Amino acid sequence: MTAPDNPEWVLREGRAEGIGGVVCLGCAETSGWADYDPRPAGAWAIEHTRRNGPAHGRFVVTAHKAWRVDRAASGGGPVAVAEVAAQVLAGCALVLALAVAVVAR
Ligand SMILES: [Zn+2]
Repeated sequence: MTAPDNPEWVLREGRAEGIGGVVCLGCAETSGWADYDPRPAGAWAIEHTRRNGPAHGRFVVTAHKAWRVDRAASGGGPVAVAEVAAQVLAGCALVLALAVAVVAR
């Protein structure tokens, strides 16, 4: 997407896998944020519950999609904001489904 007031800058997607992590609802401890691969955060959640008990068995899972702004002449195609937003929602749904599966075990 080209900014209307500054046509030499474009908005692009960042890393395809995004960034994510989980936060315990019992104590707010976090798995930390990293390039999103749900397996380490899932393992962290299981270990956190094992160490701290069932009161620490519910988590909020967050996945962030990276954007970046570059000069239009730097190559690559710009993406539409609506397209990126749809991908973020699809990614969040996947992450939430994985979290529910981990917590439901
Ligand atoms: Zn906790």
